[in-house]
Amino acid sequence: MGLKIYLDGSFVEEQDAKVSVFDHGFLYGDGIFEGIRAYHNCVFRLKEHVDRFFDSAKAINLELPVSKKQMGDIIVETCRQNGLREAYIRVVASRGKGDLGLDPRKCPIPTLVCIASSISLYPEELYRNGLKVITVPTRRNGPEGVNPRIKSLNYLNNIMAKIEANIAGAEEAIMLNQEGYVAECTGDNIFIVKNGVLKTPALHVGMLEGVTRNEVIKLARAEDIPLEETVLTRYDLFTADEAFLTGTAAELIPVTNIDTRVIGDGKPGPIFNKLLIKYREITKVVDNPDAVIMR
Ligand code: PMP
Repeated sequence: MGLKIYLDGSFVEEQDAKVSVFDHGFLYGDGIFEGIRAYHNCVFRLKEHVDRFFDSAKAINLELPVSKKQMGDIIVETCRQNGLREAYIRVVASRGKGDLGLDPRKCPIPTLVCIASSISLYPEELYRNGLKVITVPTRRNGPEGVNPRIKSLNYLNNIMAKIEANIAGAEEAIMLNQEGYVAECTGDNIFIVKNGVLKTPALHVGMLEGVTRNEVIKLARAEDIPLEETVLTRYDLFTADEAFLTGTAAELIPVTNIDTRVIGDGKPGPIFNKLLIKYREITKVVDNPDAVIMR
């Protein structure tokens, strides 16, 4: 049986969840999205994801057809409709159906979709052994173009980087910004540890402000792990004691090889291990009644 999909105000069967070929999300990548997880019958950091979704909408001048409260309810209801207590949820809003020109004024009604499906996890082995990643030639979009703070439907930048990693046989790509400073991976933020200090690129370097990144920063503060949001170069990556990526799907995943350099002793490090345990603990906490799926 297929999934029940939220599409423009109602739930429809997967095979009926169709969007026009004149939708500007399809024609021009004119839209935004969110990737969210539900754990143990509760949508994790619902408010943070809804807030980021609305900020992305505002940044591209897209007026969403629902309020934040309604959006949260739609996300929870989509899990409920599909009987999912653990889920990966995708929310997409596009400019809507227009004509073949790119002018958004021709798109009177935005398209809004919410999909909840079962989550496909990275193999546990990668959490034990770490990822092999490379830095790639494709640079992260600058803020003066499509600002990477916007979670937009324009992922070609990241996809180009992912293709470069695939060709090289690496598991992920680290993207640098226009000046050559470390920005982020194609769908994850990056952290390193050097001499006991946890470091991650500061937001002004140009990246998505990951919900997981923010949780890891909060956890580090709670655990008294010194933290710097700073500017990192490839040198900092190569000489790090530990490195790991953060994202909704991956949670925290270790990196043990960057551009053929072995990171630390080639195994996930102690700060990574500690933060992953703490992170998995907070995913079990139900602290938002509005995010509970089955009552
Ligand atoms: N960077 C990019 C480019 C992303 O697409 C994502 C989300 N998949 C992230 C970072 C991580 O963000 P979050 O922790 O909110 O999932």
